[in-house]
Amino acid sequence: MPAYDIRTPRIYLDAPLAGASEVALDRDRANYLLNVLRLKRGDALLLFNGRDGEWQARLAGTGKRALTAIVGERLREQPRPRDLHFLFAPLKHARLDYLVQKAVEMGASRLQPVITRHTQVARVNLDRMRANAIEAAQQCGILTLPEVAEPVAFKTIAGSIDAGRLLVFCDEEAEVKDPVAALAAARPSAQALLPAEAARAAIPLAVLIGPEGGFAEDEREALRQRPNVVRISLGPRILRADTAAVAALALVQAVLGDWRTPG
Ligand code: SAH
Repeated sequence: MPAYDIRTPRIYLDAPLAGASEVALDRDRANYLLNVLRLKRGDALLLFNGRDGEWQARLAGTGKRALTAIVGERLREQPRPRDLHFLFAPLKHARLDYLVQKAVEMGASRLQPVITRHTQVARVNLDRMRANAIEAAQQCGILTLPEVAEPVAFKTIAGSIDAGRLLVFCDEEAEVKDPVAALAAARPSAQALLPAEAARAAIPLAVLIGPEGGFAEDEREALRQRPNVVRISLGPRILRADTAAVAALALVQAVLGDWRTPG
C-alpha cells in the first residue's frame, strides 16, 4: 500500500505551492472544507497542484476574509508522469462520471473520448470530466491530473498515429482466451518499437473501450490493420462499458503497467 495519508482532506489548487506561503482558497473549496467537512481554523489539510508534489497545510483566515491556508512542508515529490491513455466511447452522465473517476484511479494519464459508430452521446462536457478527474485525484492521493482531451472520431485512433503506443483493444466479440497471456505476449513487440534507450522504460499504453452498442464490424477490421494493437477478451460475459473499463485497466496495469513496479 503506498505510504501516504488517505485520511487528511486533500485539495487540488491550481496555484504555486511553496513552504511558509499563504494560499487563498476559492468559495467552492471554502464551502467544501468549512461546511461539508466542518474543518476549523488550524485544521490540517493537504494541497497539490499537479506540478509540485503534495504539501502539508493548515486552515487560516476563516473569518469574513477569504479562507486561506498556510503551506507547510512538502510531504511527497511530484511523481514521474505515467503514460496510459484511456480511449473510450463516451457514455451518458452518471456512467461517464463513474468511468472518468475509475480511469483516473486506475492511473490513466490521458482521457480520450472516441466517437464510434454506435456511440450514443453527441457532446461531451469536458469541464465535468475535469471536475470528476480532480475529485478522483483528491480522494485517492493522485498528484498528477490526467489530460482531458477533446473527443476524436474513431478513424483518428485507428490510423497509424502514435503507432509506438500499444493499443489494447477490448473487443466484446473476441474469442474468450487468456487476456493476461495476450497482454504479456504483446510486450516484446511493443518494446521493440521503442528507441533503444527507452526499451527499459514503461511501454506507452492505450486501452480502448467501446460504446453501449459495441464496436461496428468495420471498426474491428480497421483495428486489425493498425500496427501495435493487442485485441483482448474480457471473458465470456458482455460487461457494461464502465465495468469493462475497470476490468481492462486492472489487467493492463497488472501485466504491463505500474502495478508491477513501485514508484
Ligand atoms: N450493452 C452493454 C455492453 C456493451 S459492450 C452496455 O450498456 O455497456 C461495451 C464495451 O465494453 C465493448 O465495446 C468492449 O470494449 C467492452 N466489453 C464488454 N464486454 C467485453 C468482453 N467480454 N470482452 C471484451 N470487451 C468487452
